[in-house]
Amino acid sequence: MAKKANKDKKTKVYVLYTGGTIGMAPQDEAVRGSPLVPKPLKDLLKYMPSLEDLDDVEIGYGSFDAPLDSSNLGPEDWIKMAEMIEAEYDQYDGFVILHGTDTMAYTSSALSFMFENLGKPVVVTGSQLPISGTRTDGTTNFINALYVAAYKATGLPRIPEVVIVFADRIIRGSRASKVSSSAWTGFDSPDFPPLGTIGEHIQVDTTLIRNAPSEGQQFQANKDLANRVLDVGLVPGFRPSHLKHILLDLKDVDAVLLRTYGAGNAPNYSDFLEVIEEVCQKKKTIVNISQCKEGMVEMGLYEASSGLLERGVISGLDMTPEAAYTKLMWTLGTKIGEQIQTQMQVSQRGEQSENLFDLRYGDCGGSSEAAERFDGFRTPDRRFEVNRLSRAVVRLSGVGFDGLDVGQTGHIRIYMNLPSADSSTPFDHPKCIANLTEVWSGSKANLLCTIDDTKARSSIGDGDITLTVVSDEGVKFWFKGLFLALFAHA
Ligand code: ASP
Repeated sequence: MAKKANKDKKTKVYVLYTGGTIGMAPQDEAVRGSPLVPKPLKDLLKYMPSLEDLDDVEIGYGSFDAPLDSSNLGPEDWIKMAEMIEAEYDQYDGFVILHGTDTMAYTSSALSFMFENLGKPVVVTGSQLPISGTRTDGTTNFINALYVAAYKATGLPRIPEVVIVFADRIIRGSRASKVSSSAWTGFDSPDFPPLGTIGEHIQVDTTLIRNAPSEGQQFQANKDLANRVLDVGLVPGFRPSHLKHILLDLKDVDAVLLRTYGAGNAPNYSDFLEVIEEVCQKKKTIVNISQCKEGMVEMGLYEASSGLLERGVISGLDMTPEAAYTKLMWTLGTKIGEQIQTQMQVSQRGEQSENLFDLRYGDCGGSSEAAERFDGFRTPDRRFEVNRLSRAVVRLSGVGFDGLDVGQTGHIRIYMNLPSADSSTPFDHPKCIANLTEVWSGSKANLLCTIDDTKARSSIGDGDITLTVVSDEGVKFWFKGLFLALFAHA
């Protein structure tokens, strides 16, 4: 531990006890196997060892009036926690929340979004076994959480984020998931490295920590959470009619987390896609989250997710379900219309690895009115630096050709910010972002091209983004949708 800075000025940590196994004991101590129930804070504190090493730390305590098993917690309790921390924010240097493990990752995600301009650590912890037991992880977790929160006294780097400290890791709150109901290491951060590791030493990776707010950026807790979100998982054989009932008939549901397969895939049969279309048209939000613990939703990569993309389903990228669910509640509480998609696809608290900006250029003709050329522009949300663009994906859906025999190869070239492009513009022109070929089968095809970071950065410009689509001379085409997705490192 680093030398203590100032003997007179104690580091102040506020501990908020909400319940959970850490503070539980058998309902009836005399009965073997009696179920565990939360006990008051004073009972828990009886089992805390001496905090001699932390004698420069002054601890203030707060507690829920009735501590709860975290299975009973919901948005109103997140608001209560946020209010209690907000009330003490100026008086303390760091915060510890003692919490049950079952919904801890939901709480840590929700608070991450609710806390705006957070400049102090908010450390959530709990345990797999009650602190009153001989074999408990409660003491270690609690003390390690205090060490992280009391960074001024312990000499650790300041982590101005909501984090979970559990077993041997410090995990970003909006990246955490509960992965085991019994192992000491109950939590994981599947798509992001831990912010720190805990062993003989506590080591914090300062390169991963989010920047503290600058001077003048006031901390505040945003408590507008819209509890109008449902979490629905797809399973093979599910009936679209059930989904329709849930999504359209329930009047108090505005958004759904759709837990899809793999990289964001879902069935592409029509009765399912019709439901999705109807839901999106009713201005209800659908966010695509994978059932896989790890990896990114990439709609459009497979035919089996293109239908979702085209109908306006929002990508959850590599967010945990806990982060996506709470972010959606928080977003619906404050944003409307198209802002919801932008807000959901852009990192707010480091909860996802990439930001995604979707641009939809619309359609071009139809089989009876095929065109030689398509030109359109969109004004992108510029919440990214061009040098952080990691890739772009351009996608054409429902493409058909006029002027080609079945079996002949059609060529489509797409130019970015070159409105003068026509069928004679070469495909190796620096502004040609996609050179697509398709053997014309007589029925519509979907075409996709990924543009690497170098090309994306050099073509994008700093204003509107124009896309010009052309084919070979004498060949006309039509398409149902032209989409450009810009991915930037978060
Ligand atoms: N059921 C408990 C809770 O979440 C489990 C735990 O804390 O480990 O409150």
